[in-house]
Amino acid sequence: MKQCDLIVVGGGASGLAAAIEAGRRGLTVTLLERLPRVGKKILVTGNGRCNISNTAFKDHNYRNAGFARDVLEKFDLRSTVDFFESIGLMLTDDGEGRLYPMSNTAAGVLDLLRLECELLGVNTVCDCKVTDIRQSDGGFTVNGEYRSKAVIVAAGGCASPVHGSDGSGFELLKKLGHRITPVVPSLVQLIADESVTKQLKGLRCSAKISLKAGNRTLASSRGEILFTDYGISGIAAMEVSGKAAELFYGELEASCTAVLDLAPELSGDDIRRFIANRVKFSPESELEMLLVGILPKGIARCVCKKACGLPLNSRISDLKNEDIKTISERVKNFELPLKGTKGFSQAQVSRGGADVGQFDRNTLESLIVKNLYACGEVLDVDGGCGGFNLQWAWSSGRACACAAAEKIKNKD
Ligand SMILES: Cc1cc2nc3c(=O)[nH]c(=O)nc-3n(C[C@H](O)[C@H](O)[C@H](O)COP(=O)(O)OP(=O)(O)OC[C@H]3O[C@@H](n4cnc5c(N)ncnc54)[C@H](O)[C@@H]3O)c2cc1C
Repeated sequence: MKQCDLIVVGGGASGLAAAIEAGRRGLTVTLLERLPRVGKKILVTGNGRCNISNTAFKDHNYRNAGFARDVLEKFDLRSTVDFFESIGLMLTDDGEGRLYPMSNTAAGVLDLLRLECELLGVNTVCDCKVTDIRQSDGGFTVNGEYRSKAVIVAAGGCASPVHGSDGSGFELLKKLGHRITPVVPSLVQLIADESVTKQLKGLRCSAKISLKAGNRTLASSRGEILFTDYGISGIAAMEVSGKAAELFYGELEASCTAVLDLAPELSGDDIRRFIANRVKFSPESELEMLLVGILPKGIARCVCKKACGLPLNSRISDLKNEDIKTISERVKNFELPLKGTKGFSQAQVSRGGADVGQFDRNTLESLIVKNLYACGEVLDVDGGCGGFNLQWAWSSGRACACAAAEKIKNKD
């Protein structure tokens, strides 16, 4: 039997942060990773640049924010910057609050995390899927082969399984008596009625998106929308996707609509005035040119076509007051009936997971199994786009490693 103080299950962002923090606090650490290498997902984050954190991160960016608050306050932005500087990585702000490595490469982030583990003597075992965690003699036996005083489950969620997180962390915690809340994909592209989106494929705009089910607004966000052949992508669409997924996964006959405000800076009256001016000053111009001053041409054409049914080569002067009203309404409320999401394979995170009510909010120790901890996405905490999920991974991984180290040291 191979003995150590702490076993970390999963060598992703939270597991690597946990292993480093525990190693620095004098624990002997074994890190078990199911893939041939640790940190595969880190390499693809931020389009290969790794959006490590966000200067605007606050607990309101997270699901189960109340639970996450203590850990995020203790291991805050300053502490995260210091942690990365201590392993030799400088961070830089992209001007909109997103923090990236100064080298602009995720590979550099992973190299330094791995190097620090090596320097601290962390025993990293790859190609080792953990399938069994048992409590025995006041400690744990893992896969019948490894023994430790404490275990941290850092196995991630279900998102992007090719990068390692296949949901097995949930199974491990479930077997040890934990509740798992329903898990759905989040930060994922939305599938919409193709007849509309196909003609807009490749076009981008800055919009406000509201997710509506009947009269209810389930979520809204503002930012980039990218039209694709299957539906919509872009940060604003991804940000409301978790709510859409909850609906599609929960209700068999679920239906919801993405309502896009294509000109959020303008009011309906502003748009009506804009169109009236176009009619006054360019009456001979064709309908397809009506909105090109406020929207990309392809989107402008589609809005006009959908709104008044007139041929796009009609003259602007042919527009009746009623047409002007419908066109401006369509700009503010461009409806896309949704059919689903692109699922876990394309999702950046999963929403749901180990019920946070069964973990201590300061230490992330299980309230059911002593000396068992969980961090990162395996817990039911997730955030929006922009570095918030990795920030939770770093903070929560370090939080449980500190707590485990303190407990083990006090006992010895
Ligand atoms: C394409 C993409 C881009 C992203 N970009 C960003 C970004 O720029 N900024 C941001 O904040 N977030 C981003 N995210 C989200 C972020 O990567 C995750 O939230 C974060 O990695 C979660 O960390 P984790 O340690 O909980 O899980 P993971 O990083 O998923 O790590 C879990 C690890 O555990 C291993 N494992 C799983 N089960 C077992 C088992 N049974 N035994 C042993 N090992 C196991 C896995 O192989 C994996 O290595 C992105 C995600 C994706 C998919």
